[in-house]
Amino acid sequence: MGDEARRAGVELTVLATSPDDSASATADHLIIGGADDEEALGRLRERVDVITFDHELVDLDLLGRLEADGVILRPSASALRFSVDKAVQRADFAAAGLPVPEFTIISDPAHLGDLEHWTRDHGAPPVLKLARGGYDGKGVLFPADDREALAMTREMLERAEVVVEERVALLGEVAQLVVRSVEGDVASYPLVSTIQSQGMCTEVRYPAQVPHDLEERARVISSEIARHIGLVGVMAVEFFVCERGLLINELALRPHNSGHWTIEGTATSQFANHLLAVSGQPLGSTAVTCHAAVMVNVVGADSPGSLDAARSVSGAMVHDYGKSWRPGRKLGHVTALAFGDDDTASAHVTAWKSARAYGTTTREA
Ligand code: ADP
Repeated sequence: MGDEARRAGVELTVLATSPDDSASATADHLIIGGADDEEALGRLRERVDVITFDHELVDLDLLGRLEADGVILRPSASALRFSVDKAVQRADFAAAGLPVPEFTIISDPAHLGDLEHWTRDHGAPPVLKLARGGYDGKGVLFPADDREALAMTREMLERAEVVVEERVALLGEVAQLVVRSVEGDVASYPLVSTIQSQGMCTEVRYPAQVPHDLEERARVISSEIARHIGLVGVMAVEFFVCERGLLINELALRPHNSGHWTIEGTATSQFANHLLAVSGQPLGSTAVTCHAAVMVNVVGADSPGSLDAARSVSGAMVHDYGKSWRPGRKLGHVTALAFGDDDTASAHVTAWKSARAYGTTTREA
């Protein structure tokens, strides 16, 4: 977002926990403090017209109080609840008739009995999710049987409510990025396939590898969600693809990993469009400017690779987040584009070759 702020005509003040945070390098102004630090948010509100977000680890009560006090949050605290709290999202969407996996919410150890016959009733052990505070698969557990599910849920309940849901037989996963303006205009980016490994996205592919009717359905559901929650800004909706079609997994109300390819692959990147939307300007075009795109995440391996070697791969667009290297940490990403059927396969090879040279621990699916 920092890189795109000038393009959107926006002056950016970043609230970061440390001057070493990668966002700090791109900010016009910097305030040091946590996202849940009332005093730091107080200093931020004095400086800015609008507050927006680039992660979900926020204190909704605190944000609600700021809003009640006249601070403009885009997206609003009530919209953010749908991305911050998986239990709120599942319960509200099921009631609204939106397609979600079968689930139950456990907020008290007294209700652990709901789990006893889960496998018999659903055909597979459940997936357990902390309602709040998880990301990149941290906070998502896959117990082997009901006994393990019980023990794990009991432990998770000490941290937050637990969403217990059916283990979906996945045919794939896709993500739909939309952006909604203050006036309520919605623009959609094309659907992408996301490749996951151990709960973390390793690769994103445009176009999505699903039939056309599913693309259309993802667009319709996501636009409906944007209106339903009163979105302003960019939102990514992650979907499971299964025999029943699409099921909503989760939302991110901010520029998202599945949309990094839009920096090079579309007329207006997700970052520019987010800033245009939250600053009350008309949305930019989401038109695609390539035939295909591959984005590979670089996740720190046991020893660092070479950024120079990654950059020397012809056609690879390397984004280094300026983070210190650590095994398992997302350090950057590489995008490669194709402009015809002939070079689609080579875009895949280019992106992976560069990411490997960079020292990623991820492997091609
Ligand atoms: P996070 O919020 O940490 O990103 P997710 O809820 O997206 O976690 O889950 C991470 C990954 O785990 C998903 O991308 C998917 O591959 C797998 N997963 C999550 N929920 C289910 C489910 N109900 N059935 C099958 N796989 C799941």
